[in-house]
Amino acid sequence: MAPVWNRDVDRMAPPWLIERLALLTGRPAAEIYETTLADLADKIDTDHHPNGNSTWLLPLGIWHRERLKFGLQFCPICLRMDEDPYIRRSWRLAFYTECEHHRTLLLDRCPSCGKPHTYFRGELGDRNAIRAPSMAICTHCGFDLGYAPIDRFEWPDWQTAVAVRTLQFMNDFGWAALDGKTYGKSAEILLVLRRVIAMLSSSTKDGQLYDAVADQIWPQGYHVLGSRGEPYEARGVAERHRLFGMSVWLLQEWPHRFEMCVRIADVRRSYFLSGIGGLPTWFVAQVQSADYVPRRR
Ligand SMILES: [Zn+2]
Ligand SMILES: [Zn+2]
Repeated sequence: MAPVWNRDVDRMAPPWLIERLALLTGRPAAEIYETTLADLADKIDTDHHPNGNSTWLLPLGIWHRERLKFGLQFCPICLRMDEDPYIRRSWRLAFYTECEHHRTLLLDRCPSCGKPHTYFRGELGDRNAIRAPSMAICTHCGFDLGYAPIDRFEWPDWQTAVAVRTLQFMNDFGWAALDGKTYGKSAEILLVLRRVIAMLSSSTKDGQLYDAVADQIWPQGYHVLGSRGEPYEARGVAERHRLFGMSVWLLQEWPHRFEMCVRIADVRRSYFLSGIGGLPTWFVAQVQSADYVPRRR
């Protein structure tokens, strides 16, 4: 039998599986591929490799049928409200940290036993079971994840909240809106956000950008990062949520906030562009401009 659950089949979308599903469902293979994570990666990650780590997609850390990493998030309220609970594709997206329907932060583990949600293991112990138990139930301890405690995150002003959510809840990924402008390709904006996040979480002195931005957003005090230099996809839900939103905040009122914080943190500007191609010209030009005059307030 071909491997299914001991591979990240959603991300790899192997042709044999797509063809088999097409046969069983009577739907065109192209339509089925469009429902996979691989399709999502094609659209948002210009540098994705089917077998390697994908940008913006959470790794599962697959070991046989176990999951060693917390790469599948879920919204407890969605699972509780579903007539027949199911797992959303967007729950594997690293920047999709809040439920678009319930405005709650997603969870990435069972609150009762602390393990990742292996929803596909419901048949455990009964290989002949046709109808598996609900996907809302933790297969390790039996806890109903629909009743997991919920947590919300409030941005300090509605403009930031709207801007962050507009990007987090993108649906078609063909375009994106930021700072009152619309961009033809969401991958382009995501690439810029990725560079800003890399600087915010850098283990070098450039990481002071995090404090400069956080101090502007939360002048009364802010959460520091748990660790510096760690990849975005390896971080917990709360830190991913904060880092993504802080980057969106920094790109608004362009280029005023960017210039202000870059100066306060004394960041090496060229590092925004290091080792990466495909950044949009408006961003590259601003980073390279040495004669920016700060705006008077
Ligand atoms: Zn929800
Ligand atoms: Zn559990």
